[in-house]
Amino acid sequence: MNKVHVIGAGLSGLAAALSLTANGRSVIIHESGPVAGGRCRSYFDKDLGLRIDNGNHLLLSGNRSAMAYIDETGAGDAFDTPSRAVFPFCDVQSGDRWALRPNMGRFPWWIFSPARRVPNTRLSDYWGMARIARIDDETTVGDSMRRGRLYWRLLEPIAVAALNTSTQEGLARLFGVVIRETLMRGGSACRPMLPKQGLSEALIDPAIATLRARGAEIRFNSRIAELAIESGRIVAMRGTNEAIPFGPSDTVILAVPPWVAAGLLPGLVAPEAFEAILNIHFQHEADPAGPLGQAGFICLVSGTAEWLFMKQGHVSVTISAANNMVDETARAIASLVWPNVVDALGLPESAKDNMPAFRVIKEKRATFAATAAQDKRRPGTRTDRAANAALAGDWTDTGLPATIEGAIRSGRAAADFVLTL
Ligand SMILES: Cc1cc2nc3c(=O)[nH]c(=O)nc-3n(C[C@H](O)[C@H](O)[C@H](O)COP(=O)(O)OP(=O)(O)OC[C@H]3O[C@@H](n4cnc5c(N)ncnc54)[C@H](O)[C@@H]3O)c2cc1C
Repeated sequence: MNKVHVIGAGLSGLAAALSLTANGRSVIIHESGPVAGGRCRSYFDKDLGLRIDNGNHLLLSGNRSAMAYIDETGAGDAFDTPSRAVFPFCDVQSGDRWALRPNMGRFPWWIFSPARRVPNTRLSDYWGMARIARIDDETTVGDSMRRGRLYWRLLEPIAVAALNTSTQEGLARLFGVVIRETLMRGGSACRPMLPKQGLSEALIDPAIATLRARGAEIRFNSRIAELAIESGRIVAMRGTNEAIPFGPSDTVILAVPPWVAAGLLPGLVAPEAFEAILNIHFQHEADPAGPLGQAGFICLVSGTAEWLFMKQGHVSVTISAANNMVDETARAIASLVWPNVVDALGLPESAKDNMPAFRVIKEKRATFAATAAQDKRRPGTRTDRAANAALAGDWTDTGLPATIEGAIRSGRAAADFVLTL
């Protein structure tokens, strides 16, 4: 039987494999690492004595492809999903705290209620923000609306987190799609989906179990080193030390990072500039009755980090668009953000001098830089490099920034294409 070789067991490869196996295709997944998940995974940290995620991931209920993936893998129970969308904020400079509470339906009643919106913002600012959803040129986020309170206290932090790129360079149209698919669809599309345990337990292991139950073969520690191309078709694959059996009608989905795809398919144009994300995990049992209590996270404004998450036995902080900090030492990075954590958690001032054990995870090429120049380099699903191959990954031309939603959509699109071959 013809095989589909999926290279890469990140979310895009897993999503592609789910679609293919649901359509009765025979699938082999080749993953270079010892586990699946790629940039979205959990592991046990011996020093901290805790299972941690490589990085905090915020997924919203409006991410429709991700929700379908969770349904298909039966992983709904692996998430804590609040019945209403509430986003607590803390300005770490001024100490101000507020919560954004979008109403559930599509019509944004909440922006008329000062108690539900960002304090001291004007109604007209919200219409300005809604206009971003219609931008389709190369306007940057920084130039997309008036830089008033709403900009600094809402738009800037969430845009940096969504694009993983500074607002001076980040493309407003990529951020606009996120606003259109979540905030503008009302609170029901903005409920945060937080894994009860880790990312792997919620998003990766259930997909692997589903794929195995459908007969897919998953090969770990199996790096694809070379694709032989003749007359515009892949005719053979090589692993690091061995040839991989490849039939004349076999097809390939490359669900690897862009630099790997460009190495396997010479001449492929793909993003070549990236942004780092730093995650700092502090050993600390946050008080469930404290400021993070109900939501389980808080958005930080005017500090170095953007998000603080409450986890089992630790609190975890994310710094996005972090190329300028990535070469600092782990201790320097942790020391910079710990005071913000103390303020956000409402701990006594003295806690600032007692930083707990920590782990800094540096994802140096966390996502492509969401700039106009890089967005132009994103290829579609099909590639003129090989007629029997398709591309998947958050860096392909999904119209979205590099996100879980984009990765899953790209995998589904690649599978749809391969099913036509
Ligand atoms: C720290 C961090 C925080 C993030 N936060 C968020 C967030 O809050 N919300 C959100 O939506 N998204 C977030 N993202 C983005 C999200 O994680 C990615 O969009 C998604 O995981 C990408 O999946 P992918 O399949 O496209 O790529 P990857 O996860 O990179 O998967 C590629 C896979 O290919 C494998 N591979 C590479 N080379 C080979 C080879 N030669 N042969 C075989 N296998 C190979 C790799 O090992 C990997 O498993 C974050 C990312 C990071 C790093």
